[in-house]
Amino acid sequence: MFRISSRFGTFFLGAFLVVAGTCTVPVHGQTNKSPVAPNRERVEAAVREAYDKYRSDTNGKNADYIPYLAQVDSKLFGVAVVTTDNQVYELGDVKYSFSIQSISKVYTLALAMEELGFDKVFQRIGSEPTGRAFNSVLAVVDIPTHTGNPLVNAGAIATTSLIAGKNEDEKWSKILDFYSKVAGEKLVLIDEVYKSEAATNAGNKALAMLLAKYDRIYADPFESVDIYTKQCSVGVNATQLARMGAVLANNGKNPATGEQVIRAEDVPYILSTMAMAGLYDSSGSWAWHVGLPAKSGVGGGIVAIVPGKGAIAVFAPRLDDAGNSVKAQKVIEFVGDKLDYNLFSPQSVGLKK
Ligand code: GLU
Repeated sequence: MFRISSRFGTFFLGAFLVVAGTCTVPVHGQTNKSPVAPNRERVEAAVREAYDKYRSDTNGKNADYIPYLAQVDSKLFGVAVVTTDNQVYELGDVKYSFSIQSISKVYTLALAMEELGFDKVFQRIGSEPTGRAFNSVLAVVDIPTHTGNPLVNAGAIATTSLIAGKNEDEKWSKILDFYSKVAGEKLVLIDEVYKSEAATNAGNKALAMLLAKYDRIYADPFESVDIYTKQCSVGVNATQLARMGAVLANNGKNPATGEQVIRAEDVPYILSTMAMAGLYDSSGSWAWHVGLPAKSGVGGGIVAIVPGKGAIAVFAPRLDDAGNSVKAQKVIEFVGDKLDYNLFSPQSVGLKK
């Protein structure tokens, strides 16, 4: 069903069929008309074409080092776009709540910057790509900062340890509330994911202890790993994730609620970190082929940011060897190409090819 909805009502304009899913195009309350937000028909056509092209792609496999993730239906596939003027495009399994995993690192970084300022976060964590696996112990030993950057596990656990609070519960509530503000609605922990990961996270505990040896973790190491494990277990659906991305595209302001939820001055630091290290060991290849700041999670989600325009989030659990969702990468590359989103291409600011 093709639908345009607003705060004031829902209008059904007609119906079109998408074989495996339903495409709804609700236009929620448009809080701030953006002159650069993409045109609805073009976005809708590009997303639909990408969805149809890749929906039967069976390459890759679910992450299984967290037992829960191995059981997620690998056929699930949802695509959502949220623009800076809060237009929402959705296709496929956009209501399914999956674990945000590593994408959470972006938002804990934003919260740490809000609490401490970007300079202190930079000093305490750093911003260098590690060139190693996201959970590498060797990187902690070898890299001069030990933490690397906020988007690899060591740097992310250290970033989580920066969040202040009287006790673990207070720190955790603060993080969850912050994510919810960014999503524009209440998010919750998926308890089974948390339990599954908490039972198998010896590697992350080892990273935290190693950081303690170098004085590069800023609270109790095990408490920090536990909060980090919870943050990775927060459930989001594709639309919520796209909205969280759209906040970064919109200078830190939530396009749905109009609330400034991330400080505008922090946004370029967050996006540059995503551009360098958002897709694990294929971040370089991603920059080359797609040219958008993005973050991936082993739960199968990827969100890519198009500054000033919006964000696209895709959920499909099968991952490639680097740990990135196969379909999500293909859809985002396809849509980005069609709509000239690549930030390194002059076409992204309107120059002709
Ligand atoms: N919670 C996962 C871990 O620490 C996050 C990994 C990811 O999504 O990259 O291993």
